[in-house]
Amino acid sequence: MIDSSLKFKGQTIIVTGSSSGIGQACAIYFGGLGANVVVNYHNDEDGASESLKKIKAGGGDGITVQADVSKEADVISMFEQTIKKFGRLDVMVSNAGLQVDSPFLEMTTKQWQKVIDVNLTGQFICIREAAKQFVKQSPREESDSKIDTGPAIGKIVMMSSVHDVIPWAGHVNYAASKGGVSMMMKSVSQELAPYKIRVNSISPGAIKTAINKSVWSKQETLEELMTLIPYRRIGTAEDVAKAVAWLASDESDYVNGETLYIDGGMTLYPEFADNG
Ligand code: NAD
Repeated sequence: MIDSSLKFKGQTIIVTGSSSGIGQACAIYFGGLGANVVVNYHNDEDGASESLKKIKAGGGDGITVQADVSKEADVISMFEQTIKKFGRLDVMVSNAGLQVDSPFLEMTTKQWQKVIDVNLTGQFICIREAAKQFVKQSPREESDSKIDTGPAIGKIVMMSSVHDVIPWAGHVNYAASKGGVSMMMKSVSQELAPYKIRVNSISPGAIKTAINKSVWSKQETLEELMTLIPYRRIGTAEDVAKAVAWLASDESDYVNGETLYIDGGMTLYPEFADNG
């Protein structure tokens, strides 16, 4: 169900990694709210086309753009294609991410670097380019006053994870990347707030997507997962998309530098529910 009180008609939104999972759900949700959505994909062109088809069916518009978010030239080209097609950018959803799991003692530098490159450096490049575009299209007027009650000139939503606060053995590269996203988000938010750019992040818990299929595809492991989720269900990509849309909308105008946990209570230390 789309929350039509959120207004995105005619706005341009880039969603990285939106050929599948959470990114795809976000892209389709924004499409249903009338946005122009740039569907970024890495390899999965069919998934991106599927997203675009559903965006258009929901009343939005969009394009698909191939880009590896960890490659600066690809990201710059994605922005050029976006501006050429739609003329401006209003929202950046920096969602693309991956896991390359390994016990710490066996983790190679290559496995470490791959995750840092995509999950951390990729988000850095994408949100820097978005911020540059926001400032370019809405240059600030010189003023002696420190007070500025004007609207946000752009919004950035970064995809983090509950593992920006929950340590995760066997996934040290991933947890380090998301911990990095959390501090990057806060620092960038502090720096860009005077430009009237809002920067926030979403930290999903267990959401049913390809990234964790090995856990939810078997009844036994799914039930085991429930011991970590007080709300007793796995999340859906749409649960996350709705929160992303709210954070990217003017309904959350005074929310800045925050992390919104969409996790059914996973960060509530459920092991302590029975007195620890
Ligand atoms: P997913 O695998 O369906 O989506 C990840 C997307 O990122 C894919 O479309 C993939 O092609 C894309 N991607 C990977 N490397 C890329 C690159 N170099 N350049 C561009 N795109 C690239 O899984 P998902 O669960 O939808 O993950 C989306 C985001 O949510 C990730 O950042 C992930 O860390 C985060 N997250 C997911 C969960 C969960 O439980 N599913 C929990 C917390 C955080």
